[in-house]
Amino acid sequence: MKELIDRLYSAGDLSDGEILMLISGEYDEKYFFESADKVRRKYYGTGVYLRGLIEISNYCKNDCLYCGIRRSNDKAVRYRLSENDILSCCDNGYELGFRTFVLQGGEDAYYTDDIMCQIIKKIKDKYPDCAVTLSLGERSLESYKKMFSAGADRYLLRHETADFEHYGRLHPDGMSAENRQRCLFELKRIGYQTGSGFMVGSPYQTDENLVEDLRFLQKLQPEMIGIGPYITHKDTPFSEFPSGTLKKTLRLVALLRLMFPMALIPATTALGTIAPNGRELGLCAGANVVMPNLSPVRTRKLYDLYDNKICTGEEAAECRGCLQRRIESVGYEIICGRGDAITRKIAQN
Ligand code: SAH
Repeated sequence: MKELIDRLYSAGDLSDGEILMLISGEYDEKYFFESADKVRRKYYGTGVYLRGLIEISNYCKNDCLYCGIRRSNDKAVRYRLSENDILSCCDNGYELGFRTFVLQGGEDAYYTDDIMCQIIKKIKDKYPDCAVTLSLGERSLESYKKMFSAGADRYLLRHETADFEHYGRLHPDGMSAENRQRCLFELKRIGYQTGSGFMVGSPYQTDENLVEDLRFLQKLQPEMIGIGPYITHKDTPFSEFPSGTLKKTLRLVALLRLMFPMALIPATTALGTIAPNGRELGLCAGANVVMPNLSPVRTRKLYDLYDNKICTGEEAAECRGCLQRRIESVGYEIICGRGDAITRKIAQN
């Protein structure tokens, strides 16, 4: 494997068959993760960027088979945050040193373009030094444009799986990989710093599907790539499927860092949920972003995408403190600031 890893390190790519070996071969990952960490240090040093995650609503018109807040889950207790709620989360976050706010939610028709644009403008007026990231699912080109003009800087929309047939098995009729991918290319063209990504170990996923995911990302060239293990939710049609593994997720994080050296890659909450030190291990395998929760404590448990989600009981300040200790325990440090992706131009200077 060493020869393969060295070649990936210097060329940033391998053949499909070679990538498959790194995903599923029998080997000790130490050298692999160290190589990913070396690339990360080359571009980003030991800094870790913070994003304050505000979960604005768990109403959703979609019915993704893996997701706990899917429309058909009538056990989900629904909530949505008002403009004032969201602004107070930002106030709290700003105090704690956050300079990026991520507004994420189910596809909730309450948040019309007008309402969203007003919220975005208010945040940017009050905190012009902060980036606003949206993660609100599939919307129209018009809508993406309006929210960008209102000041939104970034958009996260995981492609979930690049394989059309696999996508069809994870989603109901009426949702398509084609539309999701179209949204991603539109977001990029409009000028958003765009994030995509996928779940590792989702039902019916093959290792070949994961190679397709990496190939899709090479086409899209997103600034951010978020991945995490699929985690079972008891009240979904996939309740009998096992969760993805720590091992495979970490291997994919390392692959991403070596194939996309300048990408912003979070050590996700899902990674921290399947293993107590999952996020620390993610950082050591190439991740350089963490997204602590800034949502009001009263609604945290309700944004219930998967079982046993961590950090649903603590105040934002506690979460930040806990993460800071975790990050420093593995030799990295939090960087305050917007934390934009570096581009090839900057990297060459
Ligand atoms: N409505 C938004 C936000 C979705 S939630 C959108 O469509 O983009 C953010 C991410 O959580 C999803 O993109 C999905 O990859 C992940 N997710 C959902 N259910 C999950 C589960 N059961 N296990 C792991 N990740 C899950």
